[in-house]
Amino acid sequence: MMVRCGACRTQFEVPGPGRFACPNCGSVNVVRDAAGGAPSEMGGYPTAPGAAPSAGSGQPPPPPPPPAPLPRIQCPECEFTFIVGDIVVATCPNCGAEVRTGAGSSEEE
Ligand SMILES: [Zn+2]
Ligand SMILES: [Zn+2]
Repeated sequence: MMVRCGACRTQFEVPGPGRFACPNCGSVNVVRDAAGGAPSEMGGYPTAPGAAPSAGSGQPPPPPPPPAPLPRIQCPECEFTFIVGDIVVATCPNCGAEVRTGAGSSEEE
């Protein structure tokens, strides 16, 4: 993280919180953890109490699952695989055969 010397305002890189001497003027600068806004997840206690909106269950809700990929079927005539939408019968783009996708109800005959 970058810190700025309080004496000569030289910016220099430090590995983390602590006391570091300025490479320019030698003044010791105290670097606090809150300077960079980095979360203190390394073995410390969690962030400020009361920060969580809902006390008790600190678990955030799991993200929604990714959308299901479009169905991919294989043409029984030419074995060409292609992606179909939400339709019952698709037309093979390779040979033009009608292929039932299995989606939806099979009421139409
Ligand atoms: Zn300095
Ligand atoms: Zn085909």
